[in-house]
Amino acid sequence: MTDAILVLNAGSSSIKFSVFEAQGGKLEPGVRGQAEGLYTKPRFVAKSAAGAVVAEKSWEEGTTLGHVGGVAHIGGWVSEQLASSRLVGVGHRVVHGGLDYSQPVRLDASVVTSLEKYIPLAPLHQPHNLKPIELLLQRQPDLPQVACFDTSFHRSNPEIAQRFALPAELHDAGVRRYGFHGLSYEYIASVLPKVDARAASGRTVVLHLGNGSSMCALAGGKSVASTMGFTAVEGLMMGTRCGAIDPGVILYLMDQRGMDTRAIEKLIYNQSGLLGVSGISSDMRVLLGHEDPRAALAVDLFLYRIRRELGSLVAALGGIDALVFTAGIGENSAVVRERVIADAAWLGVSIDAAANASGGPRISAADSKVSAWTLPTNEELMIATHTWRLLQGRESS
Ligand code: AMP
Repeated sequence: MTDAILVLNAGSSSIKFSVFEAQGGKLEPGVRGQAEGLYTKPRFVAKSAAGAVVAEKSWEEGTTLGHVGGVAHIGGWVSEQLASSRLVGVGHRVVHGGLDYSQPVRLDASVVTSLEKYIPLAPLHQPHNLKPIELLLQRQPDLPQVACFDTSFHRSNPEIAQRFALPAELHDAGVRRYGFHGLSYEYIASVLPKVDARAASGRTVVLHLGNGSSMCALAGGKSVASTMGFTAVEGLMMGTRCGAIDPGVILYLMDQRGMDTRAIEKLIYNQSGLLGVSGISSDMRVLLGHEDPRAALAVDLFLYRIRRELGSLVAALGGIDALVFTAGIGENSAVVRERVIADAAWLGVSIDAAANASGGPRISAADSKVSAWTLPTNEELMIATHTWRLLQGRESS
């Protein structure tokens, strides 16, 4: 019997899962999929490692499967699939580990209680991330569970990069820059030594461009600065999030438009970004293929914000040796990569157009002073690896 790890990533209405099986001392991807529409019209779909649909189930409109039913269905289906391996643990993606968790942690009731403290810091994600953990602790208390955090990787940021220019009392109370997408950056940092030794040991900016977008400055593979901050709405323009705005705008909306907290939350998280500026879509593919000038404006602003933030991260690093593109847009959009690199020509980076068009991985020209890469991220593998190592005692929490 070989070891298998189940990775769960629970959102407000969906739970994504991936199974990894140990083979020859390494974790190999197995089945994966998701249960979505948990409170409206549930649907379960599972795919093989090669991407073929291997199971599907839909429930009637109005069915409430909830997180309880979703986890139960995924757990039951996954157990049936594991013929020659046994489930040794579950790894969870948890958005916020605050200052207490700079490493993954084995979960028990007291750890869950301490993670509930961070719900006010990530109200749209943290409660949903915790639900499957609580359920499994109740129903399968002997099944080991591990939480891996989006914030942990950034705990290596120097103190000054984590600080807002607010009174010290607020900083001490936890109002500081945490940074997110850490599991993605950690994965990229883990593969860089095999890809580009100079990028691994030097100064690299990673662009995680997806529905949620951020950028991270790596020095010797450690995070030293990132564009997300106290929350995941800070920094770059995203699919539906506005990214950095003058905090005075929020005060104006409250005073002059009478907007309350929930209305502003909806505006800056769900109605802004590519969707808000274009009025068409939050999907980069749709906007790149659209003739409406508002679509072009949204893409231009997305790129302009990257250009500005890139300058800031290079300043934090004191120079740059490599650029890495990852996530949905970064891995798939040659046009976006080409435009980012053209904007960054002043840094000494130039593109190999053919390599970029064919998906890299190296997309910089042979004589480019700064190398550029497109590398697929794998947050799930990162979570599975941490979980497996921690349960084997090869990693401490
Ligand atoms: P993610 O959140 O990492 O899954 O990324 C989702 C984003 O990637 C969406 O905005 C998609 O439109 C975008 N995306 C995926 N494939 C492409 C592509 N071929 N060209 C441009 N954008 C893409």
